[in-house]
Amino acid sequence: MLTDYHVHLRPDEEGSTAERYFTAGNVERYREAAAERGIEELGVAEHIHRFVQSLEIWEHPWYRLWAADDVDEYCDFVLESGLRLGIEADYLPEREDRIQNLLDGRPWDYVVGSVHFVGEDAVDVHGEPDWESWDIWRGADADRVWSRYFETLGEAARTGMFDILAHPDLVKVFGSRVPMPDGDLRRFYERAMDGIAESDVAIEVSTAGLRKPVGEIYPAAPFLEMCLEAGRPVALSSDAHTPEQLGHEYERAVEWLDGLGIRELAVFERRARRLEPIG
Ligand SMILES: [Zn+2]
Ligand SMILES: [Zn+2]
Repeated sequence: MLTDYHVHLRPDEEGSTAERYFTAGNVERYREAAAERGIEELGVAEHIHRFVQSLEIWEHPWYRLWAADDVDEYCDFVLESGLRLGIEADYLPEREDRIQNLLDGRPWDYVVGSVHFVGEDAVDVHGEPDWESWDIWRGADADRVWSRYFETLGEAARTGMFDILAHPDLVKVFGSRVPMPDGDLRRFYERAMDGIAESDVAIEVSTAGLRKPVGEIYPAAPFLEMCLEAGRPVALSSDAHTPEQLGHEYERAVEWLDGLGIRELAVFERRARRLEPIG
């Protein structure tokens, strides 16, 4: 069985309103793409910052820019569509209670946890003049950014708030366009591993990295091997923002997983996980 759970129904661009994209016709386009690519389990995980309720968690300029939709209307729409219902929530240290308040009492099939921010700074924003003040790469020390990123990722896993840990080495997104640490990167991954090992989280393998400057699957093989040693299961997604991106390069991902000895994928329903053979 193939899954695509970390999916957005719209691009991250101005004018991509709920009215335009949360429609039966748009869902049908995603369903058709999933059927063509043999993806049986399809779910959506909208960014938490798209919901007005997220401003009760954080008033970061990024959240203020995007927060427009009602989270309950989103849940109702997705449930009615028959897709699996997820959300992509940032891990924000010291805001766990507020994040939990938004998550509680809503009928998620799974919650995807992401580290996009380290402190106030975003790791996956670069070269945007408007956002320069919170671009972590401006004058960055690569070793320090990577250390703090993976520490935060380990904390995210440890909270137990998330079912899936998204794009686990997102910090590599820009490849050589930003400073990169030298040598064996496992010294950074180690910083996340205690938290991951003590958690019950599934590790996302995401083909999104293949369409980013880095041109690699998230996470790197040594990171995933460490997670497998820690007993963590794998969840497969494309982080698509259009139907065309759904299941992007899955053939390559499945081959790669096979090479690492991974034969099963995590499948979610109402926050319960089971493993299904990839087939
Ligand atoms: Zn993300
Ligand atoms: Zn995403």
